[in-house]
Amino acid sequence: MTVFSNPAFDNHERVLFCCDDATGLFAIIAIHSTALGPAAGGCRLWTYADDTEALHDVLRLSQGMSYKNAMADLTFGGGKAVIMQTPDFDGSEALYERFGTFVETLGGDYITAEDVGMTMDIMQTIARKTRFVTGLPSDSGKAGGDPSPKTAYGVFCGIEAAVLARLERDDLRGLRVAVQGAGHVGYYLCKRLHAAGASLMVSDIDEVRAQRICDEFNATAIATSEILYQDVDVIAPCALGAILDENSIPKIQASIIAGGANNQLRSNADGQRVADAGILYAPDYVINGGGIINVACEYTGDVDDDGVMELVAKIGPRLASIFEEASRTGEPTNVIADRLARKIIADAAAP
Ligand code: NAD
Repeated sequence: MTVFSNPAFDNHERVLFCCDDATGLFAIIAIHSTALGPAAGGCRLWTYADDTEALHDVLRLSQGMSYKNAMADLTFGGGKAVIMQTPDFDGSEALYERFGTFVETLGGDYITAEDVGMTMDIMQTIARKTRFVTGLPSDSGKAGGDPSPKTAYGVFCGIEAAVLARLERDDLRGLRVAVQGAGHVGYYLCKRLHAAGASLMVSDIDEVRAQRICDEFNATAIATSEILYQDVDVIAPCALGAILDENSIPKIQASIIAGGANNQLRSNADGQRVADAGILYAPDYVINGGGIINVACEYTGDVDDDGVMELVAKIGPRLASIFEEASRTGEPTNVIADRLARKIIADAAAP
């Protein structure tokens, strides 16, 4: 396993390897940048082939959080944690408490939250040992709780901005949208799109989840292998990463890709491929920033739920300015977003 020469290392400030024999905990906490403030980013529970794969994942995700937090206009840097689901992993409360003690040792330089595989209950267990945790149940009206409705709202605002920029339409009535993934974000996004009059297609490997959206929002279920290639206006990826590549992009008929999934482009070059195909792509970490805005407001405690929605709504104009620059310069939207994020972080780090 290489650390400093890992292709995803990108000058990480700190990487903490957490091991506890008694509970079977193997975790890695990566802090990419604290230039803007404490590093905020979720903790992922995942089965990795080996520790090299786990390290690569946490470094990549942590750098992504730096960019996401910068573009969401937050005073938080980027970090991430992974807990490795080893063959002996038992998911005990003691294991999560031990993870909490490791987070606490960082003194607030890293603030954890939910990511794939984690739940609000687990966050509460972690919170027994550290103050630096979010994604906890919230009192009504206060920021906090499940971030996915806020993520979905940000994606909805982003779709509105993309539709205006590409289709020159300022309402979504009759807009045809194919949503990949009927999980938390996919469900709340479909709810909003349906209320706005859009016509929906949906796909999920879990047929029950897809069917629920068909029943509640008059959507049509599509095979998972076909959802990206439908004759629609917008594709909204809300499931997996790395779905846009040299194989999938040439088959896409939609003129807009705007969804909540993280890391939609398999590689940066795929951003160029999408642009060359005449498709307007909403950079994922910009459009899906609603959840981290919710988490940040929960942590600082200075904004209520309505205030969170106002901050999330700014994702629309933020994307509109990226779309405008792309149309003016011909640059792919992902390249523009990366440059803006890096500049915000560099300016904050400058003496
Ligand atoms: P989720 O686990 O609730 O939902 C994901 C859904 O995708 C599941 O229903 C799963 O069955 C489905 N799925 C998996 N593979 C699929 C495939 N090949 N085709 C179709 N469906 C498939 O997760 P979520 O919280 O809704 O997050 C969705 C995406 O958005 C993830 O990429 C996540 O990283 C990203 N994201 C989520 C949030 C949030 O607030 N939850 C914030 C930012 C980014």
